Amino acid sequence: MVTNLQEKARYKGSYKFSQLKGDYSPEWCPGCGDFGINGALQQAIAELGLPPWEVAFFTGVGCSGKASQAVNTYGIHTLHGRVLPYALGAKLTNPNLVVVAAGGDGDGYGIGAGHFLHAGRRNVDMTYIVFNNEVYGLTKGQAAPTLALGAQPKSLPLPNISQAINPLAVAVSCGYTFIARSYAFDGKHLKETLMKAIEHRGMALVDVFQPCPTYNDLHTKDYYSGVVSFEGVEYPRTYYLEDTGYNGVVENPTDPAEVSQKRQQALQKAYEVEERVPLGVYFQVGLPTYDELLKQNLPPLREHSPVEIPYHDDQMKPTTDLTSALASFVV
Ligand code: SF4
Repeated sequence: MVTNLQEKARYKGSYKFSQLKGDYSPEWCPGCGDFGINGALQQAIAELGLPPWEVAFFTGVGCSGKASQAVNTYGIHTLHGRVLPYALGAKLTNPNLVVVAAGGDGDGYGIGAGHFLHAGRRNVDMTYIVFNNEVYGLTKGQAAPTLALGAQPKSLPLPNISQAINPLAVAVSCGYTFIARSYAFDGKHLKETLMKAIEHRGMALVDVFQPCPTYNDLHTKDYYSGVVSFEGVEYPRTYYLEDTGYNGVVENPTDPAEVSQKRQQALQKAYEVEERVPLGVYFQVGLPTYDELLKQNLPPLREHSPVEIPYHDDQMKPTTDLTSALASFVV
């Protein structure tokens, strides 16, 4: 049984990219950022050398929900807003799985907002990718929770009259231990960010700007790949945090002052309202995971994870006697 990502490196190169891709192509619109995210995830899984049978990929409902059908791992296309409980349950049942969850910004920050908050504070060891296009693409482009106040993409008859939420700031405040942002068509950066998130031990959020060319004509591929003029000089719209000397990684997780300082730094960066878009790791800290805390605090319950509990003995007899439980159903 393989439990260490480093150990899994021995699988590196054993699987070809095409083997991970499978023969299913999701029905996304031409030019959709979903293609970029799916491709980067497949490359990240391949480069980490993860055997497909040790990865479970869950998706919510929305255009992004189709992603789990196109990656050759275990996984489920789940219910609207409920991808995190599915993924969390799988990880706690079988801690040896590498678990990745994904969904749109409407799915995760709207109907699934409660799960988004509590997944962070539980620090279960898994990765959550949010396809952030600011609209509900599958249902014709209504305003999603990340659409700015006053914005009017072509799918809206009037400008948006609700404030946008700031998912990175929310993630900082509710305990995510890895928080990053990337862009769907920056394949190299996205792949590397996803690899870092999967390797991180704890709850990781990767919020990915994902152009929806069908319903969002504001934040398009041209917008993200464009330039910004400042005092007569042109700069690329997106830039990498690490290029500016920013370091979001907590070196000493037992130092509350450093953890607090790095959280404040991430919050400040999340609220940076500029024409330029920072990409990279905003915050990372190594803290005990939910499973580790369960083992420490409730050892009788977690001596074995559920998947390790034998359900029959050598004679193939059930190890659990349900006779008395079933007796209560006798009429
Ligand atoms: Fe992609 Fe938007 Fe089309 Fe959905 S509606 S597949 S998000 S381009």
